[in-house]
Amino acid sequence: MDRKTSDRAPERAASLRPSATRPTLERWLTGPRFGGLPARGAEQPAPLLSFEFFPPRTEALETQLWACIRRLETLAPRFVSVTYGAGGSTQARTHATVARIVRETRLTPAAHLTCVGATREEVDQVARDYWQAGVRHVVALRGDVPGGGAYAPHPGGYAYAMDLVGGLRRVADFEISVAAYPDVHPAAASPGADLDNLKRKLDAGATRAITNFFFDAATYLRFLDRALAAGITAPIVPGIMPVTNFVQMRKFAATNGIAVPDWLAHLFDGLEEDAETRRMVAAVVAAEQVRLLQANGIDEFHFYTLNRADLAYAIAHILGVRPAAGL
Ligand SMILES: Cc1cc2nc3c(=O)[nH]c(=O)nc-3n(C[C@H](O)[C@H](O)[C@H](O)COP(=O)(O)OP(=O)(O)OC[C@H]3O[C@@H](n4cnc5c(N)ncnc54)[C@H](O)[C@@H]3O)c2cc1C
Repeated sequence: MDRKTSDRAPERAASLRPSATRPTLERWLTGPRFGGLPARGAEQPAPLLSFEFFPPRTEALETQLWACIRRLETLAPRFVSVTYGAGGSTQARTHATVARIVRETRLTPAAHLTCVGATREEVDQVARDYWQAGVRHVVALRGDVPGGGAYAPHPGGYAYAMDLVGGLRRVADFEISVAAYPDVHPAAASPGADLDNLKRKLDAGATRAITNFFFDAATYLRFLDRALAAGITAPIVPGIMPVTNFVQMRKFAATNGIAVPDWLAHLFDGLEEDAETRRMVAAVVAAEQVRLLQANGIDEFHFYTLNRADLAYAIAHILGVRPAAGL
């Protein structure tokens, strides 16, 4: 509302009693006014989605993962990706999960692959096995040292993600995605150096970046600005993490240089023992985040599902995605 048009506001102010309500009225009269985010109609194209899963460790987790895959499959995502455990610890499980997705679903899988703890020949062999299994998309990553600690390249291995991208290009004609960091990778010498590294990965043959999760939309949008200024034109897809376990997420964020805003901590404050309310709050936070990004023209999203479909499904629905016909 245009503030100049609110000429009856003084009357309203005078009629307002008791005085304890004055701050609210003063805020309404003098503070900033916020409009709603633009609503998207059915005629507008739905955004493109991808979902990340992790390979299950137990039969129960396998059942949970496959229920999740089946539900999200109906949304016809562009691809689904499967993580690779620290130091290649999930190599067989990642392969088995990706191969089953190829065999049993209509989904396009992307297999994550890292440089840690393996020679170039070993990594190349894993990539060849993926190609043999029908996998055509790899998310190429450096990886982290299992259990934490400073990273040192494996002797005879690919040192950094950029080198792995080059190696994969030599193995087969993979589609390759790489990681990007709106909050800056913790080991980067500077934000500029981190962006140079992203550009090198794309120049080496990757065609898409997927970001680590972040919470302030402005952080991501400023990152896009800086990437564009650095000459990066490949899509940089925002990684969206609906946070249900705030305490655990905060620990992960601290070691990964991800800023956790005070407003987010405040939203989860007092809900430590209340998982159900936390899930509702998580849905609202993530929905607000993606709607704000969508209002800023972002139309591709990558969801960290943690192998649970409900939040990702609900947020996709809010974004305008509906089950594809026949699925
Ligand atoms: C979308 C996404 C998916 C992920 N999936 C997995 C997964 O499945 N498994 C897993 O273990 N981890 C995964 N990770 C985590 C990732 O492995 C870590 O963040 C890791 O620390 C960095 O990986 P990278 O590919 O970004 O590394 P790189 O791009 O190689 O960069 C790592 C750091 O090294 C610096 N650097 C790059 N080249 C050089 C150089 N030549 N000399 C000195 N410094 C250099 C960069 O600036 C950066 O700070 C994922 C991360 C994201 C965002």
